[in-house]
Amino acid sequence: MSESPKGRPVRLALLGPPGSGKGTQAAALARELGVPVVSTGDLLRARAAEDPDAWHELATRLRQGDLVPDDLVLSVVNDALNAPAMSDGYVLDGFPRTIVQAEHPETPPVDVVINLHAPDDVVRSRIARRADVRADDADRAAVERRLHLYHSDTAPLLDLYGREGVLTSVDATESPEAVTTAILRALGLAKP
Ligand code: ADP
Repeated sequence: MSESPKGRPVRLALLGPPGSGKGTQAAALARELGVPVVSTGDLLRARAAEDPDAWHELATRLRQGDLVPDDLVLSVVNDALNAPAMSDGYVLDGFPRTIVQAEHPETPPVDVVINLHAPDDVVRSRIARRADVRADDADRAAVERRLHLYHSDTAPLLDLYGREGVLTSVDATESPEAVTTAILRALGLAKP
């Protein structure tokens, strides 16, 4: 596996509520670190769009803001990670999202987990501003469901990764550039 400019492996996961900037930061970090992004949200939306009849239940879950079953998510992630480009490390955007996913034997290894910390009211107003792009952002009930599931199912991962000593939290209410710099600094990779 290739390494970061400071000689460390680059297998990174981004945690944070909906609207905390996971997609934006994943893209920026991928550029900086020269590794690909695996976004489970993007992969699942693409799969649902590919064949709406076959993936009707998946599309419904996405639209309503429900979590997708762990086995489907794991297969989507591992399919993506089997691509040759992924042998050089990766940024996981939106995965793992449950304790089951984090502890599953088929879950790919992560060296660093970044928590994009942002209060609910901040992420609610960000999502409202981008609501014309995604159906689940336009539906207020779906947004509340995603926020609820973040707190009930995903936030417990913060304790898990904190105990493992791989977690770093950054203030995700700052500008996208400032958040990227904070993450790179936490990784020991910030430019002077
Ligand atoms: P956000 O973090 O803003 O909710 P994502 O694009 O990461 O946006 O996820 C969109 C939707 O995709 C989620 O609401 C959920 O339905 C599904 N999803 C994405 N990642 C996972 C995952 N790891 N486990 C279960 N469902 C997921």
